[in-house]
Amino acid sequence: MARARNRPALVAHGGAGNAGPGVERPERRRGMMAAMRQGAGILRANGSALEAVVATVAALEDHPLFNAGYGSLLNSEGNVEMDASVMFAEPVAPGPSARGKRVRSDESDYTVSAGAVAAVSRVRNPIMLARAVMEHSPHILMAGAGAENFARKVGIRLERPEEMVTERARERWRARKQQAGILGAEAAARAAMGHGTVGAVAVDVHGGIAAATSTGGVPGKLFGRVGDSALIGAGTFAHAFGAASATGQGEAIILTALCREAVLALGDGSPQAVAREAILEMIDATGAEAGVIIVDRRGRIGYAHNATSMQVARYDPAGGLQHLWLAPIATARHP
Ligand code: ASP
Repeated sequence: MARARNRPALVAHGGAGNAGPGVERPERRRGMMAAMRQGAGILRANGSALEAVVATVAALEDHPLFNAGYGSLLNSEGNVEMDASVMFAEPVAPGPSARGKRVRSDESDYTVSAGAVAAVSRVRNPIMLARAVMEHSPHILMAGAGAENFARKVGIRLERPEEMVTERARERWRARKQQAGILGAEAAARAAMGHGTVGAVAVDVHGGIAAATSTGGVPGKLFGRVGDSALIGAGTFAHAFGAASATGQGEAIILTALCREAVLALGDGSPQAVAREAILEMIDATGAEAGVIIVDRRGRIGYAHNATSMQVARYDPAGGLQHLWLAPIATARHP
């Protein structure tokens, strides 16, 4: 018997954090919608959720107003160091499978596979390198110069590190340094709480479920710091039940394994309820700011955050394409 076709859906985020300069909002909206059209086009043509999330995230990495790929913010030394990860859960026919780890849902067997890169400075699209790690290496996470060496081997072009630095990122870095001189490093980092990390989650008509996340990291980060966006289970997770991508203070997202917790909770609730609960639990545990987007295997969507603002866009066949500047959730548990 042929498998029922799933309802496709795609959600992307452009980061949770401060609202960012108002003058940049129209262009950030435009950039987000252009990226969504690429991802949604793939799903409409019955393409895979993996292709859709990678295309969406890569388009956002190419846009200089997002803190990922070209346009990433700079670390304490004034250099770009980027993290990215991708995970794909694919329904499989019974029998031995070529790749990935087998997991079960109530309805079918899935294989899950993942790839990630940390602290890379020389690739324009870290998400594509993360995908290459997943598809062409026996590993899941590669870092720094070794990851870049692997990029060269799989035919991904290496840039000179300075080619990844935009004038906007350089100016912000200078301003932050000045502020740190006046306020002290910690206060300056809090004041600069960034935005612009990108991520996407999708489900396709074949039942494939994927998540992808990419970032230049948090403002004021130390040279060598790696955040949640490189870590499967923290910033990115996909499983038979659904997929999630996170944004916000990476250390808190890592401590709470935010995306894995959220996806595994999908057995008990709607993506919207799960997203809200995941953020409330993160607040209880850490008091930090973060956001999450979720899709479940039925194509239902959820998102929540407790920062000042979060940029989100969504696509499903019923609602079409929509863009939102999402307000923070009410943080009382029983409002
Ligand atoms: N979560 C990212 C990190 O900690 C930053 C962000 O989402 O704004 O690297």
